[in-house]
Amino acid sequence: MRIDVVSIFPEYLAALELSLIGKARQDGLLSLTVHNLRDFTVDRHRTVDDTPYGGGAGMVMKPEPWAQALEDVRGDSRPVLIVPSPAGERFTQAMAHELAEEEHLVFACGRYEGIDERVLDWAADSFDVRPVSLGDYVLNGGEVAVLAMVEAVARLLPGVVGNPESLIEESHADGLLEYPVYTKPSSWRELEVPEVLLSGNHARIARYRRDEQLRRTVLRRPDLLGKLDVEALNAADLAV
Ligand code: SAM
Repeated sequence: MRIDVVSIFPEYLAALELSLIGKARQDGLLSLTVHNLRDFTVDRHRTVDDTPYGGGAGMVMKPEPWAQALEDVRGDSRPVLIVPSPAGERFTQAMAHELAEEEHLVFACGRYEGIDERVLDWAADSFDVRPVSLGDYVLNGGEVAVLAMVEAVARLLPGVVGNPESLIEESHADGLLEYPVYTKPSSWRELEVPEVLLSGNHARIARYRRDEQLRRTVLRRPDLLGKLDVEALNAADLAV
């Protein structure tokens, strides 16, 4: 997969050189390039923003440098252009899976009050444009959202996570939150690991974990239950 990120703070994306994503880049599983939007300006001050038409607080990112940058990174294919925005569709694990199937993703990190809307209209000729929100809150810029989205997508690429089984037993993989996990020692500060996990009885352990998934989801994220496939629930699930 190829990923291009355009930002006025390329240093922000340095975290993508670390850990599993950094290793995936070194191993050639992922080609990721970060571009400085200011390199696509033509004035002495490398200006990327201006005052908003219609008035109001803050500044808006100018269209010209964005067009230059996007033309530069576009390549021959029709990439998906992800524009992080609190006004976008919500990023989910399902979207991460969808994006992991793409050949080329481009991320356009907004700052200030965001990017001149005409950039998105213009880009729609040669990109699949998707404004995407990390959640219902406002960040200072798109970089933090891109870090989260790139990590969620890249870890789904074949070979990035050592044991692919760990991708199956995770929160949101089957619409439920993950069960609680424990490691040694079995007794710590007078707190015990649940006895069932020490029993060696795989059927009991599987049932315990499934019950915990259901219990946690009911308690912490009841909104997820409405989206569950009822057919996927068995009689024991329904008894929890
Ligand atoms: N005025 C914009 C609004 O109310 O929709 C918010 C602009 S915000 C201060 C600056 C930039 O941060 C946005 O252009 C976007 O790139 C990024 N951003 C802020 N919150 C975000 C979120 N929840 N998800 C994704 N990106 C976000």
